[in-house]
Amino acid sequence: MSPLPGRLVLLGHPVSHSLSPRFQNAALRAAGIPLQYEALDVAPDALGRTLAELGAQRASGNVTIPHKEAVAALCVRWSPLADRCGAVNTFWHEEGELVGDNTDVGGVDAIAGALLGDARSSARVALLGAGGSAAAVMAAAERWGSAQVRVYSRTMDRARALASRFGGFVDVVTGVDDALAGATLVVNATPVGLHDDDFPVEVDRIPAGAAVFDLVYRSGETAWVRAARNAGHHAADGEGMLVEQGALSFERWFGVEPDRNAMWSALHN
Ligand code: NAP
Repeated sequence: MSPLPGRLVLLGHPVSHSLSPRFQNAALRAAGIPLQYEALDVAPDALGRTLAELGAQRASGNVTIPHKEAVAALCVRWSPLADRCGAVNTFWHEEGELVGDNTDVGGVDAIAGALLGDARSSARVALLGAGGSAAAVMAAAERWGSAQVRVYSRTMDRARALASRFGGFVDVVTGVDDALAGATLVVNATPVGLHDDDFPVEVDRIPAGAAVFDLVYRSGETAWVRAARNAGHHAADGEGMLVEQGALSFERWFGVEPDRNAMWSALHN
């Protein structure tokens, strides 16, 4: 096992509803690691100072909204995936230097693989939203073989800027139906459905046979995922991705795989 960090934290603003401490602390207990994962609410203007203090404490941790891009900019080194996404969700210190990675990409990979199996390599992805998590979806799809992505976002300039960082496998479309045409995987990378039962797109507009992946997670699944499954689609909400990105972060910090069953149990008990 790698040397233990001095502290293990989640940086976000706000972090009050985060599920990560629950399953990360279960993974730590299962591995017998004497650390407590703590959620730290850090306002954007306090991020630099907080990271300097965490550096002195040899801390490792996760990063969530709204700090992923800002932490990427403050890292001394970062993984190719963090570089591709322009965002860091996992960090640690090596010889006093801040190092960043992005395990959201691996989380997307795992769930898309579970939904599509081998068909993932030629997926036609309808991607709704063009923020940080949409970047993780593009970075994942880039590695699948011959996958194609059509991205639709209400702010077109944001979609164009994001797509321009990726290759020709990403097209920006101006209407949601253009994104959905021929899709084999429909991904919600907007926060729609996070606080209510709104749908990012009506289920009857989704092509028959397409899988549905909602990055949003809520207790008891999102209404969109439930409706999609009732209409016969393979569907998953963001909980599986959340646990998988956390499990991959754990591997980066400690060099060992966590007990994923313990992580799942902590969420559901
Ligand atoms: P973000 O960087 O803020 O991007 C959000 C995107 O959604 C932007 O393109 C934004 O468009 C669009 N959007 C926001 N509100 C919308 C609305 N009401 N209708 C249509 N489009 C809207 O956020 P993010 O980091 O990508 O996260 C997006 C969601 O993914 C989060 O809410 C979170 O629930 C989920 N997520 C889940 C995981 C997981 O592990 N399961 C990981 C990361 C994120 P504008 O530019 O026009 O505002």
